[in-house]
Amino acid sequence: MRKPVSSVVGPRCLLAVALSLASLGVLTSCTEPPSKDSVTASQAQSTQSFAQWREGFRTQALTAGIRADTFDAAFAGIEPDESVVTADRSQPEFTRPVWQYLESAVSPARVRNGQDRLLQNAQALQRIDTTYGVEREAVVAIWGMESNFGQQMGSKNVIRSLATLAYEGRRPDFGRGQLIAALQILQHGDVPVSNMIGSWAGAMGQTQFIPTTYNRYAVDFDGDGRRDIWGSPDDALASTANYLSSSGWQRGLSWGFEVRLPQGFDYALADMDIRKPMSEWQHLGIQAVAGALSDNTQTHASLLLPAGYRGPAFLVTDNFRAILKYNNSTSYALAVGLLADSLKGGGQLAGQWPVGDVPLSRNERLELQNLLLSRGYQPGTADGIIGGNTRRAIRTYQQSIGQPADGYPTLDLLKDLRAAQ
Ligand code: CA
Repeated sequence: MRKPVSSVVGPRCLLAVALSLASLGVLTSCTEPPSKDSVTASQAQSTQSFAQWREGFRTQALTAGIRADTFDAAFAGIEPDESVVTADRSQPEFTRPVWQYLESAVSPARVRNGQDRLLQNAQALQRIDTTYGVEREAVVAIWGMESNFGQQMGSKNVIRSLATLAYEGRRPDFGRGQLIAALQILQHGDVPVSNMIGSWAGAMGQTQFIPTTYNRYAVDFDGDGRRDIWGSPDDALASTANYLSSSGWQRGLSWGFEVRLPQGFDYALADMDIRKPMSEWQHLGIQAVAGALSDNTQTHASLLLPAGYRGPAFLVTDNFRAILKYNNSTSYALAVGLLADSLKGGGQLAGQWPVGDVPLSRNERLELQNLLLSRGYQPGTADGIIGGNTRRAIRTYQQSIGQPADGYPTLDLLKDLRAAQ
């Protein structure tokens, strides 16, 4: 399972990149990946004062086409924000298991709120459906996940956050790129600098777009000439639909189906890298928990076991992958899908989550990776993040000891590995 993001509101685009890099082979994210020499650059920068750094960056920004007056207005009174540095460097010891994450992401209050928003924005959502081919429930579900329907956009000055990340963050190259993009937005006149607010990581407005994503996908849908994802729900919703559409969203296709697996199923097939037509999954004995799998048996899908073989199982389609482009976390995409279904009165699961499982702490995840390494498996760099490589290494180990190869880390698995030393 991918690590659920630590907060229900706001995609942690920067975090998502860190996670996707840590688990090679997973899908691309909403952001460009940071370069590998980031840490070195960061160390070099720590010898510079912020004012010195700003002067150097000003030259870069002007070379990139930012006007001096744009730059100087954006940076007036800007100093580094230490809370951004703290957030950037924090490595939480515990992350919530997926079922707890879903409980708050798809809460009854959020579902009711979302249903109200569907009614309030019905006209715009109809136009958005016609223009972009994305169903209203999916758009509103993302709105709910990103900013609680515009109520929680973050309150930080985006220029200050990104300048801090570019000056002393872990990925200064990434911060610089986003900062240039943010200055381009200001120069374009979409938003005054005072209203350009977002998360500590630079995710902005009701859609929580990072600046480069904004520059590619934000649209002016209410026709006032500005792409206002902060103040205009029409712009925010259409921008989200435009992003989903550009990420391969197919009209009328469900994000996925809860399924039942047959006895003796090979759990190693539950891997996002394995994509098969529905007809093949059906041939393997997989059935929908309710109704039919898909009208189109040629629709491709992957099998997802978010909490291992003892929890609910899903066949997820290319629309699920489109949601992952927004935020590269399977827990996030599952929450969006289930929230969208809940807005239509569905979204209930038949399978039971293994709620008795105690999630592994960061130290335990590191220990698990190191034990796998010492036993000759290849979990990738031991970083405490259970990504694709670690899941594959767990599968191989599970197969070697005759256990269901779901690639899901548990305390029992860790104990087995310890005993095997
Ligand atoms: Ca507008």
